[in-house]
Amino acid sequence: MLLRNRLGAIAAIAVILSASAFTLAETRYEPKDTRLLLFIALDQARYDYLERFRPAFSGGLKTILDKGVAFSDAHHDHAKTATAAGHATLASGSYPGHSGIIANEWFDRDSKKRMYSFRDSSQPLLTPNSTSGGSSSSSTSSSSGRSPKNLLRTTLGDWLKETSPQSKVFSMSGKDRAAIPMGGKSADAAYWYDGRTGQLITSRYYMREYPSYMKEFHERKIADSYFGKAWKPLSVEAEMYEKMGIQPLDRGVFLWDLPHPLGGASFTPSTGFYSAFYRSPYMDAYLIELARTIVAHESLGKDSHLDILALGFSVLDLVGHDYGPNSPEVLDVLLRLDRNLGDFLEELDEAIGMEHIAIALGGDHGVMIIPEVLQATGVEAKRFATDDVVCYQQAESKLDDRFGEEDWLMRDLYLDYEAIGKRNLRRRDVEDALAEILSQCPSVKKVWTRTELESPTSSSDPFRNMYLHSFHPERSADLFVQLEKYHLNRLFEGTSHGSPYDYDSHVPMMIVVPGVEARGISQRVQTVDLAPTIAALLGIPTPDDLDGVDRSGLMENRGKTTPTN
Ligand SMILES: [Zn+2]
Repeated sequence: MLLRNRLGAIAAIAVILSASAFTLAETRYEPKDTRLLLFIALDQARYDYLERFRPAFSGGLKTILDKGVAFSDAHHDHAKTATAAGHATLASGSYPGHSGIIANEWFDRDSKKRMYSFRDSSQPLLTPNSTSGGSSSSSTSSSSGRSPKNLLRTTLGDWLKETSPQSKVFSMSGKDRAAIPMGGKSADAAYWYDGRTGQLITSRYYMREYPSYMKEFHERKIADSYFGKAWKPLSVEAEMYEKMGIQPLDRGVFLWDLPHPLGGASFTPSTGFYSAFYRSPYMDAYLIELARTIVAHESLGKDSHLDILALGFSVLDLVGHDYGPNSPEVLDVLLRLDRNLGDFLEELDEAIGMEHIAIALGGDHGVMIIPEVLQATGVEAKRFATDDVVCYQQAESKLDDRFGEEDWLMRDLYLDYEAIGKRNLRRRDVEDALAEILSQCPSVKKVWTRTELESPTSSSDPFRNMYLHSFHPERSADLFVQLEKYHLNRLFEGTSHGSPYDYDSHVPMMIVVPGVEARGISQRVQTVDLAPTIAALLGIPTPDDLDGVDRSGLMENRGKTTPTN
């Protein structure tokens, strides 16, 4: 019901908003000329990747950089920079605290269980069942369903469908938590990778049964076709390597350098193989093959109704966690994506014409450079060590010392309100006590409490705003730990994201719209601005209560290449 009301409201404001969108493009560009929007998200894309590796690009990423408007200072303005939250932000133009997708998962106080961001047991997975006879059927797997049920805001695709019901919206990614938010609530389909079968699958939310072209696609068993092949890097001149800051890491005797095998020494594709495939650049190629199939069979971009094809490339994240931003592996993932995307754009040019295609590209979050690499350059970086772990583990017993023995924490930093009530305590006093305890831990810069975030204040601390934008009253924990900059909550090796610092918040944001000339915009913008900006450029009405704002005004004076400040 809520959704219907909101959509009704959107329709009511449609006339006003589309009027302003159309004036912007009055002379050279007509939104109705665009038939297909490629909505691309790069998982774990640091802003510097596209700039740093640009000399080595020759395909799709080069086209986007050459033809696009590049926002060089675009940041996520939420503190918990995680995949589900980032993709929902790009698609909805709303902060995670409003979209409800505050993280990849959270603790559900009602059921006292972990809630995965896009789990919905009422919408079982549609598992392809291949038969040796040729045609495949499908069955449902109720072990864990998926849908956008937990997404509390509408998205770009929903806004388009509301104003243009004949438009089609298809979304796909290696990860369900990318594909589902990018498609929104009214997507025709969202597909993601199933690590048990190596297939790209969906859930009952989108369809009862796979269309015949998807059954044929499943029959091709594309992941299996990589069995027996290794991940070999594309060749890059040594001099280029150095220019782009690529430094192979000495990983000791336990891990190989490239080429990497896909899985272990097995004789048939196993889950180990499917997992390794998922973490190789071939996964992105697989996704593009699905995109190709859908464009052909769904005739995307073939009529005057704008369609959206959302592509969430997730390999960069998996590889980036393991090898870090300066690794040959990360470079190779982007080079291969560049080549594959280039081929795909060429085919789309032939089938639809680039003059009818718009592209929006964003990153769901960045990543920290591996702490040991930072240390080598003189940065005071730190990886979690024994003292950090012990300090966290002792926190609850220190609460016992202070207030008496209880199970104070239901899970993570979710306080047990019953225990607090039983002891006749005020919640904020327990929050403050726990914040004080955690503040003593090494690496902790500040602990934010629920009470602090919920209280009105005139504070303009940018971090407070970022934590507030990650905060949802029912879904969030009672405390947030902010680590010192360059301190990483990850043991042993690799790297991660999830902080409010620039290395996690600063991401690429590019828009290619036919008739709008390439330029760089250095004014700071937010990732919540991407969806309303592309919507305005394409004449799609948006809700009037978005967190993001339409930045297409910055793209005026098109044709002039002078950079803005
Ligand atoms: Zn990640």
